[in-house]
Amino acid sequence: MLENVNAKPAPKRYYRKKVDLFVLLDKMKLWPSRSGVLHGLKSIDRHGEMAVLTTHCGRSFKVRNSRRSRAARWLRNKLHQSACPACAVPQWKLDKYGATFFSRRQGSLLKGGPNR
Ligand SMILES: [Zn+2]
Repeated sequence: MLENVNAKPAPKRYYRKKVDLFVLLDKMKLWPSRSGVLHGLKSIDRHGEMAVLTTHCGRSFKVRNSRRSRAARWLRNKLHQSACPACAVPQWKLDKYGATFFSRRQGSLLKGGPNR
């Protein structure tokens, strides 16, 4: 595979603050754990307002779909301290996340399918 050495920084993107948590997780495939580590999500198994999340490092847990939850807030505010080495989140994904901002007034609600 060819690597672009002069790669531009990831384009800035904006999502709404009130974006649905599960939709956001499904889009980003990242999970900020309580200990401040950012994990890569392997799967999101939705059951209504609950979902079972599985990380690449093999952790599995249940979360509630809440935009006001700790995880939603941490994800929006990027409060994690490091990325999980076992999950091996690729740098491009971290860059993309780093260039993602959450705004009350502008951005996508991620409701219009995979291209929005
Ligand atoms: Zn992990």
